[in-house]
Amino acid sequence: MSKRYDFAVIGAGAFGAWTAYFLRRAGASVILLDAYGPANSRASSGGETRVIRMGYGPDELYTRWAMRSLQLWQAFSERIGKKVFYKTGVLWLGNDADQHLKSLVQVLGNVAVPLETLTSNDVKKRWPQLRFDDVTWGILEPESGLLLARSSVQALVTDLIHSGVEYREAAVLPPQTAGKVATVKTSAGDYISAATFIYASGPWLPKIFPELLRERIFPTRQEVFFLGTPQGSRQFKPPQMPVWLHRTHPDLPYALPDIENRGFKIAFDRHGDAFDPDSGPRVIPSASIDRLRAYLKRYIPELENEPIVETRVCQYENTWNGDFLIDRHPEHENVWIAGGGSGHGFKHGPAVGEYLSARILNDGPGEPRFALEAKQTIRQRAVY
Ligand SMILES: Cc1cc2nc3c(=O)[nH]c(=O)nc-3n(C[C@H](O)[C@H](O)[C@H](O)COP(=O)(O)OP(=O)(O)OC[C@H]3O[C@@H](n4cnc5c(N)ncnc54)[C@H](O)[C@@H]3O)c2cc1C
Repeated sequence: MSKRYDFAVIGAGAFGAWTAYFLRRAGASVILLDAYGPANSRASSGGETRVIRMGYGPDELYTRWAMRSLQLWQAFSERIGKKVFYKTGVLWLGNDADQHLKSLVQVLGNVAVPLETLTSNDVKKRWPQLRFDDVTWGILEPESGLLLARSSVQALVTDLIHSGVEYREAAVLPPQTAGKVATVKTSAGDYISAATFIYASGPWLPKIFPELLRERIFPTRQEVFFLGTPQGSRQFKPPQMPVWLHRTHPDLPYALPDIENRGFKIAFDRHGDAFDPDSGPRVIPSASIDRLRAYLKRYIPELENEPIVETRVCQYENTWNGDFLIDRHPEHENVWIAGGGSGHGFKHGPAVGEYLSARILNDGPGEPRFALEAKQTIRQRAVY
């Protein structure tokens, strides 16, 4: 007889690993499975770094979740003795018409997150290496910054294994029976038996549950560039360079300073084309490089001719408006789905895990915005 776990968590990205953490901490027996390994290069939680910011425009829910998550990331970092957070500051750059930034100031004021409001001259003086001629004001979140992505998730999974979670590399198939599920099968033909199953399978969710999620989670191709910086220059490393988000530009560029000498990271937050996380090509076409060079020429001329030292193609797993999807499967009462990180989910991994474990273990309250029934099939991004 194979072992029966309290929980099987399918997917060891930021959402699944943090969910396994909270379930295990409550004393449950947990198996965590991943088809390619924690924070692998196809996963949305792969790669070097992620922004952690408190500002979400008018959206206090995600502001509060980011605040809570930062505490939990930091507590984790202290407990295991590994740096996972860099307090680089996060700089928002907007113009006078930017309602999102105006609401952000209000919300961060209400919840007592420190911020500095800056004029365009302040921005120019403090960061002369950036030439944002279309920006009229900015906001700095001095206590925010970036998280290490792959290495933090992998450290968390190692920590889970030490705490008694069983980790297995296996691709889990969708439930094969109707109603309550007793076992799920892996692609290798093994059976996993558990009281509750949690599919935290990121951009793979619409492939696992096509009927339910094909029209509710839309994976999009997102390109990331790392630029070499000039010899001996510290201009693109903290503390001289914060994370920044250039909101006045239609492609929504954002950048993270050079951490661990990997290069200055820059990407465009505008949603790309539809993308298959298993087989989608992860090589950058020359048109994208031309677009990047044109951007650098205007806004960061010092980097215009610096080499691209690394590129990545990752995918967002967008819901219709950017709200997460965390809910019970409508046809299987002991199967849960956690995903729809929508390009902003990494930072919230701890809050997702805390919320979902409380929902399942203590019948905690459900946030209507995360419910399956709140998910529409049109695409109208609203969470930034
Ligand atoms: C380019 C880019 C930039 C981003 N920037 C930010 C940012 O700055 N800040 C931020 O907070 N967020 C950011 N995000 C979003 C964030 O990274 C994601 O929302 C988050 O990592 C999603 O985590 P996840 O655990 O849901 O999914 P994933 O990390 O994809 O994890 C899902 C896991 O499930 C596994 N899996 C899939 N199918 C199966 C199966 N059948 N059986 C077993 N295992 C399976 C996969 O191998 C994978 O490891 C960004 C994302 C990208 C792509």
